Amino acid sequence: MYRLFSLFLLVALLAYPSCKSPQMVIGKWQDGLEIRKVAPGLYIHTSPINLSNGQVFPCNGMIFIDQGEAVVFDTPVYEKDTEELLRWLQQEQKVKVKAIVPTHFHDDCLGGLPMFHEAGIRSYANRATFELAKEQAATLPQELFDGSHTFQIGNKTVECWYPGEAHTKDNIVAWVPSREVLFGGCMLKAVGAGKGNLADANVDTWSASMQAVKNRYPRLKLAIPGHGDSGGMELLDFTIKLFNDQISVIHQDSEHFCNHQFYGSSRGFAKLPIRTIGQDSVAGKGLVSQ
Ligand SMILES: [Zn+2]
Ligand SMILES: [Zn+2]
Repeated sequence: MYRLFSLFLLVALLAYPSCKSPQMVIGKWQDGLEIRKVAPGLYIHTSPINLSNGQVFPCNGMIFIDQGEAVVFDTPVYEKDTEELLRWLQQEQKVKVKAIVPTHFHDDCLGGLPMFHEAGIRSYANRATFELAKEQAATLPQELFDGSHTFQIGNKTVECWYPGEAHTKDNIVAWVPSREVLFGGCMLKAVGAGKGNLADANVDTWSASMQAVKNRYPRLKLAIPGHGDSGGMELLDFTIKLFNDQISVIHQDSEHFCNHQFYGSSRGFAKLPIRTIGQDSVAGKGLVSQ
């Protein structure tokens, strides 16, 4: 009897990680796309960016799924990784992707936009992201909102919010209230990270913008940065401190990720119909106005 009980215990222990582990990992970002489950229905997608100096950096985005519907924040930079992400969402998870949202205008947010559009997925962005993206030869977001917007995904909501200028003038964050998870994008730094690419940054307002994020989401459980490791409120505090004593001299340190200059302007300039999101712009129970 004791032996039987031990056997059951062993089977139970072996089975536990496969069905309940919050650390489900698909792929390895060094080889291409990696997807990690971090909460129910909540995933981080990570894929590489190849810099002109030969370095490779991981770029994070977020996926939220509820009741067979999904929203994706930021695309991978490259076509191959984007197609892999779309295959995972549409063929493996079998979800309807209601929106792809680039959180600012750099290539590590919207590089894969053409593939999302080809897959019939609409893109939504802060109006400032559209205006800045126009200046580079990239495919442009299709539907625009002014600063903030709330998506209805299944029975849950996901909020996009513009806290002010930081990494770029258009950067927004995404908040999943039901999970208390923040996707900070590239304005949120992993603990120990450098200042990164400051070519389009406002270093004078960065700390205040991040403080505004902290004030709005004081109970966050997980904070996901655009690059590097996730954590808690310490990422916001680290970012605030990093830019706190910033004098208004723009310089660039050795980290040059997410600068569109590295990828040239070879991408086609897609002329897509632009609509402004309003109460009634999306049929059904898609978007809800804030
Ligand atoms: Zn960027
Ligand atoms: Zn970035």
